[in-house]
Amino acid sequence: MGIQSKMLPVDVGKVLAETKDAVPNGHKPREASSTKKWTIEDSEELYRINGWGEPYFSINAIGHVTVSPQGDRGGSLDLFELVNALKQRNLGLPLLIRFSDILEDRIERLNACFARAITRYSYPGVYRGVFPVKCNQQRHLVEDLVRFGKPHQFGLEAGSKPELMIALATLSTPGALLICNGYKDREYIETAMLAQRLGHTPIIVLEQIEEVDLVIEASRKLGIKPILGVRAKLSSKGVGRWGTSAGDRAKFGLTVPEIIRAVEQLRRVDMLNSLQLLHYHIGSQISAIAVIKDAIREASQIYVELAGLGADMKYLDVGGGLGVDYDGSKTNFYASKNYNMQNYANDVVAEIKEACEERNLAVPTLVSESGRAIASHQSVLVFDVLGTSDVMTQPPEAIEEKEHLIIRNLYETYQSITADNYQEAFHDATQFKEESTSLFNFGYLSLTERARAEQLYWACCGKILSIARQQEYVPDDLEDLEKIMASIYYVNLSVFQSAPDSWAIDQLFPIMPIHRLDEEPTKRATLADLTCDSDGKIDQFIDLRDVKYVLELHALESKTDGTQKQDAQTTPTSSHKPYYLGLFLGGAYQEIMGNLHNLFGDTNAVHIKLTPKGYQIEHVVKGDTMREVLGYVQYDSEDLLESIRRQSEQALQEKRITIQESQLLLQNYERSLNRYTYLET
Ligand SMILES: *Cc1c(COP(=O)(O)O)cnc(C)c1O
Repeated sequence: MGIQSKMLPVDVGKVLAETKDAVPNGHKPREASSTKKWTIEDSEELYRINGWGEPYFSINAIGHVTVSPQGDRGGSLDLFELVNALKQRNLGLPLLIRFSDILEDRIERLNACFARAITRYSYPGVYRGVFPVKCNQQRHLVEDLVRFGKPHQFGLEAGSKPELMIALATLSTPGALLICNGYKDREYIETAMLAQRLGHTPIIVLEQIEEVDLVIEASRKLGIKPILGVRAKLSSKGVGRWGTSAGDRAKFGLTVPEIIRAVEQLRRVDMLNSLQLLHYHIGSQISAIAVIKDAIREASQIYVELAGLGADMKYLDVGGGLGVDYDGSKTNFYASKNYNMQNYANDVVAEIKEACEERNLAVPTLVSESGRAIASHQSVLVFDVLGTSDVMTQPPEAIEEKEHLIIRNLYETYQSITADNYQEAFHDATQFKEESTSLFNFGYLSLTERARAEQLYWACCGKILSIARQQEYVPDDLEDLEKIMASIYYVNLSVFQSAPDSWAIDQLFPIMPIHRLDEEPTKRATLADLTCDSDGKIDQFIDLRDVKYVLELHALESKTDGTQKQDAQTTPTSSHKPYYLGLFLGGAYQEIMGNLHNLFGDTNAVHIKLTPKGYQIEHVVKGDTMREVLGYVQYDSEDLLESIRRQSEQALQEKRITIQESQLLLQNYERSLNRYTYLET
């Protein structure tokens, strides 16, 4: 990876900030000693659940993941049992479970952090956060958010016209802000202005210089004096994974000369007192607090300068960027962050206060547009494993003298592998295997011989790997071995639909089994999804140092006798006990970007709320049926069915199909149309 600069940790409190590189090089293999029984503590460490999951996710005594949706303040649910109960209610996997209590807790936390910072620095102003709708536009979530945010006058941010329409209809909190960002046309601007008449507090943020004229015109036409903001392009650059929204050439925002021009334009029509807010957004998932500090420092100066130019400044909107620690490492790694929410609030409050004090200015109302930090934790995606595929590594049978030299070489290599030469043996075996491929290509090796050579090669790799795992540190050149020897676990999921960032930008999400955590996971695997697309896989996982390329998982248990399958090739779904995995922290940006890759549609979703006696299901949103998904791409189910009917009739007449067969075919076809697009297990 190594794309991030190594920012030094900051002071405040006990943030355990370290760079990932502080961990020594070379993977310490987690070879479970057969003498010690695997414990849930081992699982906690392996999957780093305390790092990324606190205070919401942990493991209970029977080895199941538990969810404490109210953090340390409330009860907890056994996730495995919850999934089984939901399955009995006909909510098949994959299943997205949203915990509205977590959403509430996140809002409480963010507001509490700003409240503490305001007290700590005796800040003579308030905090009024807004939620950026683009982060998760699902209706139930936005409605919950508005409800939970009421005590804090939490508002909404719209980044487009459709989002404005959601925000206008949903926001009902008196005094809460409605920040209007994004590209705007006349209709957008007029709608936002008219919203004032409904009692809303819309703030129209100028992001393009052309919008200044539109705003002036609309204001004149409607006779409404709007509240305006400007979005500044800062020169401090974000180093988020999501590209840099800051910087002089960013897509949105006004450069300093453009801001000055806007000020002059507004002054000319006597509207400068409408300009009350300064906004910036340097990108999402900012991992380094130093970057956040730089941005707030620059913005604070612009803020006080704007006040100096005569604008009636009242709000500072610091945008998004507040990170989520996906790998629990507390570092400036892209999947982590080297600061906590409190550090963030402290820096924002302290920096702007100082700038205003120097100029003797009243401090602004602070606004942040944190999406990821609020919405990520509330949803858990649970999916099941359909089958596995392993590399065959059985010890080879003895070799005959007359075998091809290359095969004899591989066999000898296999025999000679020891703890002293395993690294060298790996290179030998690899070279022999490459030679065998060339020999085959030139016609010197038969297909059967090539197969023998490959089997021997895998046997060598298996033996080398088992030795390597027992070593203190694995040499770097052998790290690939885990990768190429990994099992493939086929999962009932479409990555494109449910974790698009994992596919598009290699975003890491914590993934782990939600049961059997008191058992040692003996397999190392990558995940392959249902789509027959080579990108439909997950082969990078969170780790303390950098990332790891295989995930430790349990062998599937056979249904009949409960014994573990050894090196089973693709196991048919029906023959093993259910094995559930959870993908965590995916509540921001993943639920909506999904596309219909291979026509897998939306997953089933439920909203769970804690009650004194347990939990209650608040909403059920059924996933797409095939009929619906096919409709999105303009197929009419009746037409499709009609075509199958016609083909069956023809086949019947020509006696290519029996009446029973044709009935079964039509029945299955028709039934499928009304089913979930995922596999029923
Ligand atoms: C995406 C976006 C946000 C949300 O950012 P997070 O990092 O998710 O908090 C806020 N403001 C604007 C303008 C955005 O484009």
